[in-house]
Amino acid sequence: MNRIVYVNGDFVPENEAKISVFDRGFLFADGVYEVTSVLDGKLMDFEGHARRLERSLSELQMAAPVTTEELLAIHRELMARNDLSEGMIYLQVTRGADADRDFAFPDASKVPSSLVLFTQSKAIADSPAAKVGLKVISIEDQRWARRDIKTVQLLYPSMGKMMAKAAGCDDAWMVEDGVVTEGTSNNAYIVKDGRIITRHLSNEILHGITRAAVLRFAREAQMEVEERAFTIEEAQSADEAFITSASTFVMPIVEIDGASVGEGVPGPTAARLREIYLDESRKSAI
Ligand code: PMP
Repeated sequence: MNRIVYVNGDFVPENEAKISVFDRGFLFADGVYEVTSVLDGKLMDFEGHARRLERSLSELQMAAPVTTEELLAIHRELMARNDLSEGMIYLQVTRGADADRDFAFPDASKVPSSLVLFTQSKAIADSPAAKVGLKVISIEDQRWARRDIKTVQLLYPSMGKMMAKAAGCDDAWMVEDGVVTEGTSNNAYIVKDGRIITRHLSNEILHGITRAAVLRFAREAQMEVEERAFTIEEAQSADEAFITSASTFVMPIVEIDGASVGEGVPGPTAARLREIYLDESRKSAI
C-alpha cells in the first residue's frame, strides 16, 4: 500500500514522508493525537475531536499548528486522495524538532509543532466482534495521572493489550484503588437492572468523544445513566458490559477475568446503543 499522508503542510506518498529524529514526539512522547472514524466518506464527531485536541494542546502549552477549519480541510483532502469511504483518520501533533535533545520545552515561536495525519481503511460499522462480544482481563492501571490528555505515550496500554492477548482475551480493563478506570483504548460501562453505569469524568480517564455521544443518546432514549466508578466484581455480576471508542463505537464485553457477564453473549442495551449511535452519528457526520 502506498497511502498519501499529510506531513507539515504537504500531502506525500507514505514512503516519502519524513519526520526529524529530533522530533519531541519521537524522543519524549511529547505529542497528542486524535482518531476520527469515517463512514460513507464522512467524518463522525469531527467537532468533538477537534475540541478535545484543542484542550489537549492547551493543557500541554503546545501551539495548535493549524486552525480547526484548516484541520477539517486536511481531513477531507486526505479522504479524497486515499479514496477512503470507511475507516479512521489518525492525527498527531507533537512539540516539533528542537536543535538538540533537551528536556525543557523549546520556545514555541522558534520551534513549530509538527502535524501528521494518515488514513486507515477498515470495515468498522459491520464488525463481526460486535456480534460475539469481547473478552477482557483486568490489570493494574499503571499510566501517568493525566489520562484526560490524549498523549501519544501509549506504551502501557499497548502492554495491556499484549497481557490480554497472552491470556487469550481481546483487551484489558484497568483498575486503580480497587475500581475500574477504563479500557486500554476505550471507556468502560456496565448495565445493571436497566441502568447504564460508567466512571465519572476526571483526570483519571480520557473524556471519550464516543462516551459523550452515547450517554447523550442514552438519556434522550430515556435510559438511566449513572456516572460513578465500579469494581471488577460488580462488572462480573452485571447484566451487561460494553466499551466505547471512536473506532469500535459500542462494543459488548461478554467475559471479565474468566467470568461470563450475564448470559455470556452480547446484551440488548449494548446492541441498542450501538444502533442508535451509528444511526445518529451517520446523520450528523460531515
Ligand atoms: N479511553 C482511552 C484510554 C482511549 O485511548 C480512548 C480512545 N482513544 C477512549 C477512552 C475512547 O475515546 P473516544 O471515544 O474519543 O475514541
